Amino acid sequence: MLTTVVEKPRKRLFLGLLLALELIIALSLFVLWYIPYRGFERLGSNLPILIGWGFGALLLLFSLGIVLIVLTVVRGREMPGTKRLRGLLIRYMFPVITVIGRFFGVAKDDIRRSFIEINNEFVRSESIKNPPRRILVLMPHCVQKDICPYRITVDVKNCRQCGQCDFSDLTDVAEKLGVQMTVATGGTLARRVVIETKPELILGVACERDLSSGIADTYPIPVLGILLDRPEGPCLNTRVSVDKVTEALNTFLVKDPFLVESKAGKTETT
Ligand code: SF4
Repeated sequence: MLTTVVEKPRKRLFLGLLLALELIIALSLFVLWYIPYRGFERLGSNLPILIGWGFGALLLLFSLGIVLIVLTVVRGREMPGTKRLRGLLIRYMFPVITVIGRFFGVAKDDIRRSFIEINNEFVRSESIKNPPRRILVLMPHCVQKDICPYRITVDVKNCRQCGQCDFSDLTDVAEKLGVQMTVATGGTLARRVVIETKPELILGVACERDLSSGIADTYPIPVLGILLDRPEGPCLNTRVSVDKVTEALNTFLVKDPFLVESKAGKTETT
């Protein structure tokens, strides 16, 4: 049986590749400054110094960004400019770092896992709190047992909670906490659901590839990513830790004033 075990994400990998990117930028700026040095001198005696200062300032700015990223990850608290930095990280640094990582022979999924973990640290550091109806749980279809006849992609409430897959407990958690849960069969459908529901926060469960592209696609909406376990290989009867999902939801939830506990213990909307 083909088994894919999700390794513990290594934040250090992404941070190490960030440092490699800084070295490449420093080297490029030095070459850009040094090679035309004589030409600058002919244009004006102060020009090489001015351009050197300009390049130095650029490098300092980038270094400051890296220090902020490391501090956010280490301290787990929002730093000044963290939100903007998350955008730069997702939009620009992640694609460049993937190229650098591949150049050094690092597997794509290792880079993605590390990126997802860094992104999660940023999202957690923002201490976001939302009522349940503003949180969207996006689930992949492959968690559903392959032989299940019920169409939970249409409505997750079609699950009969038979216990054969993790939707049995997940639907229960979603109902009790009052969050919206949607099962998406692909990126296009997931994007449509996000546009329609306009969540303040997304809890995304998926593989490395879908999660990292989903985080980028839905920016600036914060996405906390939880990776799938694949005991039967990719896209078939995958598993997710219900405890991890519950813990993540509880981290971001504020009590919804429109929800009350019924006597039967079920959550109802007033
Ligand atoms: S728990 Fe729900 S989705 Fe999973 S197999 Fe049973 S009925 Fe189908």
